[in-house]
Amino acid sequence: MAVAKKIQIYDTTLRDGCQSEDVSLTTEDKVEIARRLDDIGIDYVEGGWPGSNDRDAAFFIEVKKAHLKHSKIAAFGSTRRAGVKASQDRNLQLLLKADTPVAAVVGKTWDLHVREALRIPLEENLEILHDTIAFLKKHVDEVIFDAEHFFDGYFHNKNYTLNCLRAVDDAGVDRICLCDTNGGRLPDEIVDAVTTALATVKAPIAIHCHNDSEVAVANTIAAVKVGATQVQGTINGVGERCGNANLISIIPDLQLKLGYQCVPPAKLKELREVSMLVYELANITPSSRQAFVGKYAFAHKGGLHVSAILRNTTTYEHIDPALVGNDRHVVLSELSGKANIMYKSKELGLDIDPKNEKIGDLLEEVKRLESEGYTFEGADASFELLMRRTLGMTSEHFNFVSFRVFDDKWHEDQAPFSEAVVIIEGPDGHRSRTSAIGNGPVNALDSALRRALVPYYPALENMHLADYKVRVLDNGRGTGARVRVLIESTDGRKRWSTVGVSANVVEASWQALVDSVEYKLHKDHLKPRARPADVNGDSKGKSSGKRGVQPNP
Ligand SMILES: [Zn+2]
Repeated sequence: MAVAKKIQIYDTTLRDGCQSEDVSLTTEDKVEIARRLDDIGIDYVEGGWPGSNDRDAAFFIEVKKAHLKHSKIAAFGSTRRAGVKASQDRNLQLLLKADTPVAAVVGKTWDLHVREALRIPLEENLEILHDTIAFLKKHVDEVIFDAEHFFDGYFHNKNYTLNCLRAVDDAGVDRICLCDTNGGRLPDEIVDAVTTALATVKAPIAIHCHNDSEVAVANTIAAVKVGATQVQGTINGVGERCGNANLISIIPDLQLKLGYQCVPPAKLKELREVSMLVYELANITPSSRQAFVGKYAFAHKGGLHVSAILRNTTTYEHIDPALVGNDRHVVLSELSGKANIMYKSKELGLDIDPKNEKIGDLLEEVKRLESEGYTFEGADASFELLMRRTLGMTSEHFNFVSFRVFDDKWHEDQAPFSEAVVIIEGPDGHRSRTSAIGNGPVNALDSALRRALVPYYPALENMHLADYKVRVLDNGRGTGARVRVLIESTDGRKRWSTVGVSANVVEASWQALVDSVEYKLHKDHLKPRARPADVNGDSKGKSSGKRGVQPNP
């Protein structure tokens, strides 16, 4: 068997990725990302521009303590200023101070920039390029030259741009990275220019594309196919403007479809986790539509698709989702048929006889609820409960009697607060009334409900809301519109999502809250313990002495 050709992966999430308007990472975040990239076998991690800010300089100190096993750390800088010796250039000194095995320097290769931005003769820029590389080569193991605006330069003044490459090549550069800095080029142009560059210089070629034409991944792949052996990009394609080439797509494309090796094959399935880590640390909501790793990347909605998928997954999937650490996901919707229900039950580990007559009832119920505005696509836990309830596979852990919510605001400058009173009938038939204060009505209801149930099910103590989303359903009806509430809950180990719909946001929230608690009780097979005699919590958790209070009318 032929050995897969190695393509080096050079990650610049920590440098170019941080140019994105919504990405700001602390030094600790950056070190954590570097560790994770090292762990999955990324060859180079560009840590930042030590000359530009203290945070980047701090990273190079901290990352040394992480003792990375595989990734080489690169520091970024620019060519020396005009009229200064390379050895006396402050930015180059800071670059060396980062003390990394790899230095990447960016320089001008488009005559327009030399004239307009540097405002120096074209010849002088060639000296700057040569000089900078020759100087760095004396001090750093590996020097990469980032040819800024290479492709734009190439199509405007090919000779000059190629002379720039010759200048760094003659100075002994280890690699030349061709940059589509403005992100405006298309794959055919990339192929033309990369091919010419490869024929012009001795140094191996890398590719660095931006996504302004939405083809950064395609451009990168095109460059590799004609001979680039290193790919620069960022995790999730974060970066300035429309972002950089997305390594989370490029790696599986090159490895699974074209047979190159980018990371060790066993590490491919960690791509999704790496993608999520960067989203989480950057505090960005992951895109559900993201190729390979998004929540919807392997989601199937139509009943026909689902029945085909059940027979053979390649019917509607380009790869096995597990290869990149993702899951197949079957969406329940008004399009669903019995196949979706059967698939979903299998996914949930429920053993249902396909001939069970109640499956028809369940389908009807799903359709009815969806027509009212429920969605089970983001609320698997509510769906599982609905399924168990309809098919008679569960019993409730408590009965609702009533709730009441008060909202108070006592002074214009003071935040309002809410108080909720909840009456439920416990598993022993005992009615209890609990109340709790919260910063809002849902928070108060959540606390009061759990306070009522914790005496029976102490494990509920560890559960809390992780996310809460409200969506207005009938936009035209203003404040009279129905709302859909989606709640995500966690007990520190797992997360689950539930849904509620009502014209009243408190009621919609209550439905989702009740499902969330019921789901936890089901999942953990929690059996009620005997209610301690003195428990009947009030807002302070002390006994209120009122038992079996009748619901408020
Ligand atoms: Zn860039």
